Amino acid sequence: MVSMSDPLRRVLGESSTKVLAKALELHTVGDLLRHYPRTYAEREVLTPLNELKVDDYVTVQAEVARVDVVPMRQRKGKMVKVVVTDGLGQLHLTFFNQAWRGGQLHAGMRGLFAGKVGVFRGQRQLTNPQTQLLDDGDGYDESMMTGLIPVYPATAKFPSWNIGKAIRVALDVVDFDDDSLPDDVRERQGLMSLREALRLIHAPDEWSQVQKARQRLKFDEAFVLQVLLAQRRAAAAAQPATPRRQIRGGLLDAFDARLPFTLTAGQQSVSEEIFDGIAQEHPMHRLLQGEVGSGKTVVAMRAMLAVADSGGQSALLAPTEVLAQQHARTLRTLLGPLAQAGELGSAEVATRVALLTGSQNAAARRTNLLEAASGAAGIVIGTHALLQENVQFAELGLVVVDEQHRFGVEQRDALRAKGDTPPHVLVMTATPIPRTVAMTVYGDLETSMLTELPAGRSPIQTTVVPVGEKPQWVERVWQRVREEVDQGRQVYVVCPKISGDSAAEDDVDVDADTLLDDEETSRRRAAAVEDVLPMLAEGPLSGLAVDMLHGRMTSEAKDDVMSRFIDGRVQVLVATTVIEVGVDVPNATVMVVLDADWFGVSQLHQLRGRVGRGNQPGLCLLVTRAPAEADARERLDGVASTLDGVLLARLDLEQRREGDVLGVLQSGRRSSLRLLRLLRDEDIIVAAREEATALVDRDPTLSVYDGLVAAIRELVDTDRADYLEKA
Ligand code: ADP
Ligand code: MG
Repeated sequence: MVSMSDPLRRVLGESSTKVLAKALELHTVGDLLRHYPRTYAEREVLTPLNELKVDDYVTVQAEVARVDVVPMRQRKGKMVKVVVTDGLGQLHLTFFNQAWRGGQLHAGMRGLFAGKVGVFRGQRQLTNPQTQLLDDGDGYDESMMTGLIPVYPATAKFPSWNIGKAIRVALDVVDFDDDSLPDDVRERQGLMSLREALRLIHAPDEWSQVQKARQRLKFDEAFVLQVLLAQRRAAAAAQPATPRRQIRGGLLDAFDARLPFTLTAGQQSVSEEIFDGIAQEHPMHRLLQGEVGSGKTVVAMRAMLAVADSGGQSALLAPTEVLAQQHARTLRTLLGPLAQAGELGSAEVATRVALLTGSQNAAARRTNLLEAASGAAGIVIGTHALLQENVQFAELGLVVVDEQHRFGVEQRDALRAKGDTPPHVLVMTATPIPRTVAMTVYGDLETSMLTELPAGRSPIQTTVVPVGEKPQWVERVWQRVREEVDQGRQVYVVCPKISGDSAAEDDVDVDADTLLDDEETSRRRAAAVEDVLPMLAEGPLSGLAVDMLHGRMTSEAKDDVMSRFIDGRVQVLVATTVIEVGVDVPNATVMVVLDADWFGVSQLHQLRGRVGRGNQPGLCLLVTRAPAEADARERLDGVASTLDGVLLARLDLEQRREGDVLGVLQSGRRSSLRLLRLLRDEDIIVAAREEATALVDRDPTLSVYDGLVAAIRELVDTDRADYLEKA
């Protein structure tokens, strides 16, 4: 018998195996059986031809309307021109050097035709399409006799119906004994067996069967993931950790006394949850979620100070150097002499705040590494540089990851591994994520929420400025900037690029998907910091203090310009997305994003969050040259229409593939989620989570669930190709 994990060559010939591996990344029998139909063609229902999009690879069901055999103009030989119809629209098929098609195809026949939609003389056409006749006049082809015809994601080399045939071969021989779903769970959830589900999804008679099969297969996807997460939670809970109990009269109390504001009720109660968590004898693993500007940093700093008071060190990981520098600056300022242990005039309970970033000079780096390793620094702040092997701690008690969505699980774990005993972990994200996504992506963490913004904030107004249609609006933008600066406030101008000659972007985190979707956009030259700065300083903003910030500057230069922006000596900061997350200058009130269409929804929401952080209202201007009908414009309008981060996170997610969301969880090449949709399948995810938690409670090592163990191994397997070579 053949099993799901066997290589495809056990059921298919050599050439098919090669093509499927290369074109569709299908390597095992299981890969093939989980290559589900994209849709189904109903026997009598033809594909709406008018809806076909140019450049898409399509498989259509249509009826032949006309067949003409004509000589080719430039060369010898004949071509066969066929017109197919769905009754309404038409599609042209052109076959070169296949004169025999003229004898094969006749008006009235039905078939499946597959190829890439092109345009010739204003008409959509398929050139040399793959062809499978369904009804050759004597009735339907036997092999196609299921009620619904599955249409698979396919390629020119391996059309949909050949995939269907390969799947039918595999279904006949594969052994389904190692079903990953335990019988009792399956029965409780009212789901069909794996064998039946796979048979019905590939060869259904009717839609209700597809529905039921999908239900079962979606549950599988959710369940395996949730069992993995439940195991991680259980393993973490079983580890020992040093309890960090609060001590009065130390750094924390001194910090609280110096805070220029009172904590919100939310900050108070989340702090309590965290203090409670780190006082336990097992490591805390907590996610702190809160809208941009809700004041997460203070909460994290208080936790770090509590740990310092009890003799432990904390590491704070930030995604950008600018943000790491800011955190260090804020802490040092708020702590004053309390952050100067060992220096003249330091307080008795004092500690040190070390900063480690990739681009700092060797001397600074050496000092900071030493302070971390010796334990002199109670708080060590840094970028990815923190993760390097030579960074060591004397007693790491707490790991904080700021803007966790910028990191992967591996990075969190790498930092955690630097503790002798497992440290407590607090991760923060400003991108509020829908519940099911949190359950999936951060499913191994407990969550805390900051729902309110500090009092006195007024909402940020967002306006899309379409300069393609209204060029005179650009002038108005700079006028507005001037007015704001005249009133003593400050402005960010964000550009997608550093310099005009840089192709695509160094430190600039442009959303790759967005670019692919919108080739128009990517071809256009985007605004660059080094061009925009002189343009503004010599033009519309002449006389103002304008400076720049981007990722290619040295640590010192970045720190210097940010310091001058913070104390108001720089009035307008032209920057790349290095300021996207976390940067906090309450006096900055206007955010101008140039070529805003280059950025994704979450990025824009984050960028906008840089203003409106004080008691003055914020204004965000999304300047774009994208035409009104471009997809990007919809995205900008979406961002402009709401300040609700949860809503925008949904919008963002809808535009991405689920794999991107899960990317942080697994490093395999393809997403384990084929059918499950995190947003739409909430019921399934919740049910799967409950079942998974109960199962892991009962049998933490899954001792009697071999199929499930195998499915989990496959999910976390980092190098599937390697594994297949050995198999
Ligand atoms: P985020 O949650 O986006 O990381 P920050 O922690 O950077 O937000 O806080 C945003 C701003 O609000 C900062 O300037 C911070 O000093 C300020 N802030 C935080 N908590 C309060 C509070 N309770 N009252 C007033 N301002 C606060
Ligand atoms: Mg923050």
